[in-house]
Amino acid sequence: MVVKIEVLTLFPEFVEQVVKVGIPRKAVEVGALSLSARDIRNYSDGADRRVDDRPYGGGPGMVMEPGPLADAIAAAKTAIGNAKVVALSPQGLPMTQALVKQLAVEPALVLVCGRYEGLDERVTPLIDFEVSLGDFVLSGGELAAMALVDAVSRWLPGVLGHEGSAEADSFSAGLLDHPHYTRPPSWRGEAVPDVLLSGDHAKIARWRLKQALGATFLKRPDLLEELELSRPHAELLKEFLHERSGEKN
Ligand code: SAH
Repeated sequence: MVVKIEVLTLFPEFVEQVVKVGIPRKAVEVGALSLSARDIRNYSDGADRRVDDRPYGGGPGMVMEPGPLADAIAAAKTAIGNAKVVALSPQGLPMTQALVKQLAVEPALVLVCGRYEGLDERVTPLIDFEVSLGDFVLSGGELAAMALVDAVSRWLPGVLGHEGSAEADSFSAGLLDHPHYTRPPSWRGEAVPDVLLSGDHAKIARWRLKQALGATFLKRPDLLEELELSRPHAELLKEFLHERSGEKN
């Protein structure tokens, strides 16, 4: 199965960069993802290719006209079939791993990137929902759409190898990822934790889970509050904190 994504934008060449490198590129190469960036200006009704105009009621900035957006959305839906239409917006649902995972099983997505002050409100009925990259204002939806394409591509079948399974990443189990180490075994006087050299996979898994619980407790306690920790996990976290206080003393 391939996820088909159409991105509606004033900067198609910019958006296409996301599938030129790394995991999103691989997703296209293995046939799990197809991405096409559609220029909203192609749907301008004037010869000047303008798609924005002054806001009713006055004030700064320009607003994207509804007509070209509606035509671009219709054309994108015709091209890729029954797609969910997602507008990138600071007012949208936060882009979490849970949301990304849900979007990765959609057969087709149309991502609408605003510019200027945003979209004319009357296109709202054409949008299924809005997604936000975070509580800050970007100058356009493109970086948010590219972030979404990147994050979705990690979940597509055949894209990450066995070792890089997306399930092991931060947030997938509601926890942050455990720390990672590679060679050399000792660097600037710091050794890699012994357990990782032990070859004992059960022990390694237990250590990693303990570190993931500890990292989440220290860096993102809000995530732990949302999880109901099982007894064994709560015990592991206690062990982490105990060992950490031992190190500090
Ligand atoms: N006046 C709007 C912001 C417009 S910014 C407001 O304050 O709500 C222009 C465009 O950038 C938006 O239409 C949206 O597509 C995009 N954008 C800005 N911030 C974003 C964010 N945090 N997440 C996703 N898209 C964003």
